Amino acid sequence: MTIVPFVFQNSKSGKKETFVPKDPLNVSIYSCGPTVYNFAHIGNIRSFLFVDVLRRSLLLGGYKLNQSMNITDIDDKIINESIKRKISVEEFTKPWTEAFFKDLETLHVQKLEHYPKATESIDDMVHLVETLKSNGLVYEKDGNLYFSIQKFSRYGELSKIDVSGMKSGVRYDADEYEKDDVRDFVLWKNQKTEEEKCWHTKIGTGRPGWHLECSAMIRKVYGSGVDIHTGGIDLLFPHHENEAAQSIGAYPNEEFVGTWLHCEHLLVDGEKMSKSKGNFFTLRDILEKGYDPNVIRYHLISAHYRSKLNFSLSKLEESKTAMERVQNTIYRVLEVGNLWDKVSKIEESFDDSIPDLQKINLEFINALADDLNVPKALASVFELVRIVNQFLDSSAKDSADSDFLKESLQLFYKMNKLFAVFSFEKQILSLDGISEEWILAQIEARKIAKQNKDFSTADKIRKELEEKGILLADTKEGNTTWKKAQ
Ligand code: AMP
Ligand code: ZN
Repeated sequence: MTIVPFVFQNSKSGKKETFVPKDPLNVSIYSCGPTVYNFAHIGNIRSFLFVDVLRRSLLLGGYKLNQSMNITDIDDKIINESIKRKISVEEFTKPWTEAFFKDLETLHVQKLEHYPKATESIDDMVHLVETLKSNGLVYEKDGNLYFSIQKFSRYGELSKIDVSGMKSGVRYDADEYEKDDVRDFVLWKNQKTEEEKCWHTKIGTGRPGWHLECSAMIRKVYGSGVDIHTGGIDLLFPHHENEAAQSIGAYPNEEFVGTWLHCEHLLVDGEKMSKSKGNFFTLRDILEKGYDPNVIRYHLISAHYRSKLNFSLSKLEESKTAMERVQNTIYRVLEVGNLWDKVSKIEESFDDSIPDLQKINLEFINALADDLNVPKALASVFELVRIVNQFLDSSAKDSADSDFLKESLQLFYKMNKLFAVFSFEKQILSLDGISEEWILAQIEARKIAKQNKDFSTADKIRKELEEKGILLADTKEGNTTWKKAQ
């Protein structure tokens, strides 16, 4: 398989750059993962879905990946909550870690190669601090160890933060930071009360600072830097700046990260969705409103990762309608082309001979290769929907040009490797005795009746379907979609 060249907007340079991994068949990618102290909100989930889009796009482009996402299972909040509940940190974080993985599974997020946990990487953190110490970048105060940013000339390079107002010798101990406040940050915190979780190590009895965790876990998994590092835009400063300071400070002759990618925020009424503002929905909240997880996935990935996305239920409805349009077309292809039992073998024989479809295929992959432009890739999906429906609505289909339908189906199938929301199986309806096949046949019959200006038959068919709880909708383009009545 040939490898498609990708271009990424690298936060390091602020420019679009051709992606040149060290080895395209072993691309290393590290993503900052969840802090497991509660359910993730769908803003957090947007950033995890972005990692899935990156993964699936590169896989479609022919790359092979070695990907990690960390689990932050120790920080101030986690310690405070577990003390409050009188349980261990492990007992406290376990159900939240499980809930995180369950959410990813519900949203068809592909499993990565590694999920390192902070609490299982303490030795690597200690080693990193010792290396920084020997490079003269660490000082101690009240038993805590700090990174001295004044001694690191490249501080600010990644986030382009103005370091002129840097507060020399003023320290940050907390795991939550004020934005734009440039201070020395804590690498290792000494234990303050007996009930606080701690580790007895060569650098003291205590626990790691948040930034240290990611630098150490990258080293632990890869033994080096990575080709790509991702996170939400709020992590650019100070988290990623501090990660870079630690990793480059410890290993100044190595490249830490080739490409930094940052995903924009999910907003509510123009404001960042966040736990602290209380303006958030968890995945469960949305599912309880009756939405299909596929609709949530589709909605959250359909905007470009570098665009802010304002979340609302009405926008979610629009995504639902758009998705149904694609799904109904896929069902039509399967039905009219009599292709239901060919789906299992679809990957074995990928044909690519019809110029119109080749063009759409190329546009689709090129959109993804251009800094993961999912909105543009979606335009290709809808172009495919358009030409397939045009074909199905014309008399051409009667000449049983099954190659066109087969290749269209294959293209939808390929596109779904990114979206992972469309079904290629016969829908099992909960309505007794009604099959998808039958509904599509009724839709075809109604269309023919309309073409013959036999409107009473067409109306009769619509009514009959309605009585069985199936609602039809005619689109502007003259296609008909169906859905179950609520
Ligand atoms: P946390 O669990 O708080 O460590 O955050 C996990 C990820 O979610 C990080 O990459 C954050 O940058 C990201 N994140 C937090 N809030 C939002 C939001 N409203 N929209 C998109 N990403 C977010
Ligand atoms: Zn991180």
